[in-house]
Order: sequence, then C-alpha cells, then structure tokens
Amino acid sequence: MKTRTVLGIESSCDETAAALVTDGRVILAQRIASQDDAHRPYGGVVPEIAARAHAERLAPMIEATLADAGMTLDEVDAIAATAGPGLIGGVMVGLVTAKALAMATGKPLIAVNHLEGHALSPRLADASLEYPYLLLLVSGGHCQILLVEGVGRFRRLGTTIDDALGEAFDKSAKVLGLGYPGGPALERLALEGDARKVPLPRPLKGSQEPHFSFAGLKSAVLRAKQSGEYTDADIAASFQQAAIDCLIDRMRRALAGVGPVNALVVAGGVAANKSIRGALETLAADHSLPFIAPPLALCTDNAAMIAWAGLERLADGQSDPLDVAARPRWPLDPEAEAVRGAGVKA
Ligand code: AMP
Ligand code: MG
Repeated sequence: MKTRTVLGIESSCDETAAALVTDGRVILAQRIASQDDAHRPYGGVVPEIAARAHAERLAPMIEATLADAGMTLDEVDAIAATAGPGLIGGVMVGLVTAKALAMATGKPLIAVNHLEGHALSPRLADASLEYPYLLLLVSGGHCQILLVEGVGRFRRLGTTIDDALGEAFDKSAKVLGLGYPGGPALERLALEGDARKVPLPRPLKGSQEPHFSFAGLKSAVLRAKQSGEYTDADIAASFQQAAIDCLIDRMRRALAGVGPVNALVVAGGVAANKSIRGALETLAADHSLPFIAPPLALCTDNAAMIAWAGLERLADGQSDPLDVAARPRWPLDPEAEAVRGAGVKA
C-alpha cells in the first residue's frame, strides 16, 4: 500500500508546532516554537499572549515544515490538528488553519484530541507496542492513568482531584525561586539534595481508587520553604521523592485492578524526568512488563504526535467535517465518573 503522510498541527498551550509524519513512522520534518520567553514574566501561560503568538507563527511554520520535507500540500494525505482540550484561543488558531487548508486542498480534516496525541505517541516511537497498554499521562495540565485499548478507546482509571503533576513541579519550583517552567530546574536541584530531609505528605497514597492529589504536597513545600529549616536542594529532592512515591503507589493500584496489558507506558512533559522514568521502569520490571517512554522530544507538546494520532484515525477510516468544534474540555473517556475537583483545569 502507498505510504500515507499527514500534516500535524499543535497549538493547544504554549507550543506552536507543525510536523509531517508517515504511516511508516518516519517524521519527515517538524518545527516547534516555544513561547516560554513570552510567558516567563508572568510565571505561567497567559492565554491571550499564547493565542496571538500562535496566530503569528503557525502559517509560516507550516510553509517552512513543508519546505524542510521538500513537499507541497498536494502530496499530503490529510491534515490533523489539535481540536482540544487546551486554551481555546490557541486551539481555534490551529483548528481553523487546518480547516482552511483542508478546504483549499480537498484533503480530509482530522480533529485530534491532544491527550490522544500524547497517549498514542509511544506507538509512533515504538512499532512493537500493541494495544492494550497502561498509560501514565503526566503533563502541565493533566495527570491520568489510562487503559489504552485502541484508537479512540480509553478507560480512565485514575485522575488528579486537584493539580496536575507538572503544575505541582512548576509551582514548587516557583516557591524555590527556580523560574519558569520549573520542572526541569527542580529536577536538576533535586540531584544535589537529600530526599529524606524534609517530611512531606503523600496525598491519597494507599487509597482504593488510583486517583492523585498534589495540592497539599505543593502547600507543604511552601511551608517547608517558609520555615527556613531546610535547604532548597533538600526541599526539591524531598518533593520529587514524594511525587514519585505517589505515582508508583497509584500505578501499582491501577495495575492490580486492570486486566492483562502489553506494556507500562509514560507520556507527557513530566515524563522527561529521569527519576520518575527510573521508578516506573522498576515498577514495570516488578510486573514483568516492558516499560516504554517516548523520546523526550515526543513527550512534551509537539505536532508529530498529533500527525501520528491523525494517521491512526485515518487508518481506522475516520475523518471530521469542516464544522467540527474546538473544545476547551474533551475527556478521553467520557464515561469515566466525575471525581471531586477533577478536570477543573484545561
Ligand atoms: P506538557 O504540559 O506536556 O507540555 O509538559 C510540560 C510540563 O512538564 C511542565 O509542567 C514542566 O514543568 C513539566 N516538566 C518538563 N520537564 C520536567 C522534568 N524534567 N521534571 C519534572 N517536570 C518536568
Ligand atoms: Mg500537553
């Protein structure tokens, strides 16, 4: 069968990205522009600034990505864009751009759930990964344990009832004066600290359902800092260890309750954290499961994962009408029961 190529577009948060990916798992070209500098003065993503930056950058970026691959739009088989969940202004910029290109070329439009992009990205990286697999999705906006059964087929086993893990890293980093985004800086500082020095809580550890809570941990970090009793490095190391203990306990619980799976998989920006990866790898080994983590560039927001999710949906015979809506909220598992406080964030 002829190779298919999909143009992917991502604009749901503070990364503007475009990519061309084939169903042979080749990333022909990809470009990504981070807006960290624009948001840094505010210590977080400002939706209005993000949407404007996407509007300025996206079209020239798509042109450049096509040029990188030596392709024209006519040679692309479909156009896939993130249609949610995310900051709605940015999502609309990407989705409307994709609609315009689909309309002008007559190619199919595929409206991709950003979370499905993250959830399927390990299959772009690893051809051997078969459904079903257990996924820990940990990013700046999400913290979920999902059973991935197929394209568009997810069972949410756990979610955070307050903050996402990346958010907890970023807020704790801010308390320690580490700047924005703080996750990577906090990980570096933790290397110099002693994780046993600061007593911090492990919220929801041992509870029945594999849900998460990080708001109390974040507040405990603030109190530890204000007490003046600990070094920043010890606080960072203790925070990271508390987060890992929660993740592993909750994943253990999920593994105990789910049927057979082919692998334990992690995705999302926080998957860049080496200590977290290491702990998950050990957990997988304990359960005689392969551990799969996509390369770092595929973990943070990117368009290759959106193109890949588009390819999987295209192979499944799916595409979307030109009036498909941009969605600020879009759960992967609509049947999942609401959890107190969960899903409040974009
Ligand atoms: P995403 O929302 O998928 O774009 O991922 C961004 C989030 O991942 C932010 O909250 C970052 O602070 C977090 N993050 C990135 N790298 C690391 C790291 N090495 N350790 C912990 N968190 C990280
Ligand atoms: Mg993301």
